[in-house]
Amino acid sequence: MGNKYLPERSVKAVWHPCTQMKQHEMSPLVPIARGEGVWLYDFEGGRCLDAIGSWWVNLFGHANPRINAAIRDQLDKLEHVMLAGFTHEPVVELSERLSKLVSGQLGHCFYGSDGASAIEIALKMSFHYWRNSGHPEKNGFVSLQNDYHGETLGALSVTDVALFRDQYAPLLRHSAHVLTPDWRHASAGESARDYALRAAAALEAHLAEHHAETAALIVEPLVQGAAGMGMYHPDYLKLARKLCDKYQVHLIADEIAVGFGRTGTMFACEQANIVPDFLCLAKGLSGGYLPLSVVMTTDAVYQAFYDDEITRGFLHSHTHAGNALACRAALAALDIFEQDPIIETNRAKAAHLNHAAQPLASHPKVRNFRNCGMIWAFEVETIDPAFAGKFFQAALKQELLLRPLGNTVYFMPPYIIDEQEMDFLVAGTLRALDAQKK
Ligand SMILES: *Cc1c(COP(=O)(O)O)cnc(C)c1O
Repeated sequence: MGNKYLPERSVKAVWHPCTQMKQHEMSPLVPIARGEGVWLYDFEGGRCLDAIGSWWVNLFGHANPRINAAIRDQLDKLEHVMLAGFTHEPVVELSERLSKLVSGQLGHCFYGSDGASAIEIALKMSFHYWRNSGHPEKNGFVSLQNDYHGETLGALSVTDVALFRDQYAPLLRHSAHVLTPDWRHASAGESARDYALRAAAALEAHLAEHHAETAALIVEPLVQGAAGMGMYHPDYLKLARKLCDKYQVHLIADEIAVGFGRTGTMFACEQANIVPDFLCLAKGLSGGYLPLSVVMTTDAVYQAFYDDEITRGFLHSHTHAGNALACRAALAALDIFEQDPIIETNRAKAAHLNHAAQPLASHPKVRNFRNCGMIWAFEVETIDPAFAGKFFQAALKQELLLRPLGNTVYFMPPYIIDEQEMDFLVAGTLRALDAQKK
């Protein structure tokens, strides 16, 4: 794709996320003029298929007509009003519909602006719950080895990805990380389920020793995204829920990346038939259109804050919490789930892609080809430390947006991708793979 549109100075005016800016001396930014469906277009007629849903947010394609129409309609009514002391229709409707979707047991929705702010909310709320309940000593957190929960200081302290964490470690509160259930770490001959049971035993050993000072266990259900799409058996979640009950520790499910159908069910926790104490949602919540996040929780948690005393209330606010435009986009996304058989159709699409991807799965450079719902991933055998950047460039030449995590290449396409586009994705990935030297 071309970059003639960009004048030299813009490159410095914007400091880009997760980017060593100096690298853009060599590989220029890709200016995007517009998007439509799975496609992004530049200013020169070039295009690429957004195979990673623009950082895992896009569910129903760019410029989706139904979501666009809902936002336009909302724009003429109310763009935003503060959520302290005021309320509005989209936020009430969204909260009621979300609660219904998650079994009715998480009937209280607290809003934030992005994924990391949802994690901050869940951590603070769990801690404050125990404090209000006479257990201020329960103030620690445990997460899974290689988990990612965002990059603000609280979220980063329960994140275990060295690249994001190491430079800032002195700023972070200590938290524990227990053995990951990601089956790539299983021993030879050990099944994904057996390995999940072994990881659950490690969790039990940790909780048996530390439950008295632990507020919550936080997990990425079924798929550890930033760890390189590490997938695990749902029985781990089942056991984690049981252990949290046994040891009086909250379970926080971070479904920021996997919520809204990504793992093949509306929410990943459904596959283990469990309900967490806190469910964090963002990314696809607004169809990927606008920054919006929510933490959903139980009556038990809500009641522990319900009091005459102001300091027993939850003392947390984000200025744009429950933004009306974002909530309306989220309602439009929920409408699409209700009106179209998205989950069922995705199953057929996944079967098509799995079949089409056979040459990828059996490619001599490819290891661990795996799929969960609408997520695909595989490791590429390489000794090149710059593989991710080079593969990104090679994929762009094939009109594909792919952004490997280390040597893990993954697909997380919008659900509206059709069979022809899936075939295009696989064929281009194979060509990008064969373009790599070693
Ligand atoms: C993206 C992500 C976050 C952080 O969300 P932001 O909106 O980037 O702050 C947290 N947890 C998981 C699992 C994520 O994938």
